[in-house]
Amino acid sequence: MQLIDGKAVSSSVLEDCRAQIEFLSNRGCSPGLAVVLVGDDPASRAYVRSKERTCHELGIHSVKMELSAETTQDELLGIIASLNQDEDVDGILVQSPPPAHIDERAIILAIDPSKDVDGFHPVNVAKLALEEPGGFVPCTPLGCQRLLGHYGIETRGRRVVVVGRSMIVGKPLAMLLMARGDLGDATVTVAHSRTDDLPGVCLDADILVAAVGIPEFIGKDHVKEGAVVIDVGINRVEDKGAKKGYRLVGDVNFDEVASRCRAITPVPGGVGPMTIAMLMSNTVKACAQRRGIDLADLTETGLS
Ligand code: NAD
Repeated sequence: MQLIDGKAVSSSVLEDCRAQIEFLSNRGCSPGLAVVLVGDDPASRAYVRSKERTCHELGIHSVKMELSAETTQDELLGIIASLNQDEDVDGILVQSPPPAHIDERAIILAIDPSKDVDGFHPVNVAKLALEEPGGFVPCTPLGCQRLLGHYGIETRGRRVVVVGRSMIVGKPLAMLLMARGDLGDATVTVAHSRTDDLPGVCLDADILVAAVGIPEFIGKDHVKEGAVVIDVGINRVEDKGAKKGYRLVGDVNFDEVASRCRAITPVPGGVGPMTIAMLMSNTVKACAQRRGIDLADLTETGLS
C-alpha cells in the first residue's frame, strides 16, 4: 500500500509557483490575492490565516479583509467591486460559508471571472465543462488530480467513483477526470445521498474519491482490493485525549480500508495541503493571464 503524501506534493506545487513568480517578476509583475472573511467562524479564520501565511512565504501580495458578521450584502458587493478594479489584485476569494444573511450565489456572480481563483463563477464552471484551459478549476478537485498525476496513477479508461456531488468538490472533480487528455479520460460515476446500493457502486471503482462530509463513512465494504482511495473529507470528531479536544478524520475509515488499497491519502496530510497549494497556483495563473504572459514559456526556457 502506498501512502499518498499530500504535504510533499503540495511543497512541489509551491516550488513550481516560486519559479513562476520569479518568471513573472522578471517581466515586471507580481501576483496578488485578496481573501475576504465575513464573520468570526474559527475554522474559517484559521483557513484565511494559513492562506495569508502561504502568500507571504511565496512573495504573493496578500490583501486580507476581515469584516464583521453584520456586514450587509450591499457592503460586501461594494468591496468586491473595488477588488475587481484593483490592479494589484489578481485573485479574489470570499471565504465560505458566509453568514446566513449573505446570498453566496450573488457574491460569486459579482467576482470578475478572470480573478475567480476559487473557480466557482458560472463562467469558469462552463469553461471546465467545455474543457477550455483558460478557466479556473476549484482548488480541491485540482489538488486531487495533481496527487494522482504525481504518483503516476493512470486515469485513462479507469473506473472512477466520486461520492459527493457538491459544486466545490464532487461535480468539478468528475468533470476534470472525464475530460479528454492526460489525467482525464476516466469513466466517471458520481454517487450521492440518493444513490441506491452505494457499496455496490463503489466496489466497481479503480479510483474511489470520498467527498461526503461524514466521518469515516467509507469502509471496507465500499473498497475493491487494489483500488486507489482519495479521501477529501475533513471532519472534527471529539477526542477528549487530544489537546484541542478533537481530532481530524476523513470520510474514509482509514484503518479498515488501507490494507486493501493500492494507494490512499491520509487525513490530515493528504488532500488538505493540496487545496492551498492549488489556490496559489491559480493566483499565479490569474496574474499571468491578466497580463498576457504565457507560463508555458517558463517550462520551455527555464529560469536562467
Ligand atoms: P457537501 O456537504 O457540499 O456535499 C456532500 C455530498 O455528499 C453531497 O453531494 C451529498 O449528496 C453526499 N452525501 C451526503 N450523505 C451521503 C450518503 N449518505 N451517501 C452518499 N453520499 C452522501 O460537502 P463538500 O463541500 O463537497 O465537502 C465534502 C467533504 O470534503 C467534507 O468533509 C469537507 O470538509 C471536505 N472538504 C475538504 C476540502 C479540503 O481542502 N481537503 C475542501 C472542501 C471540502
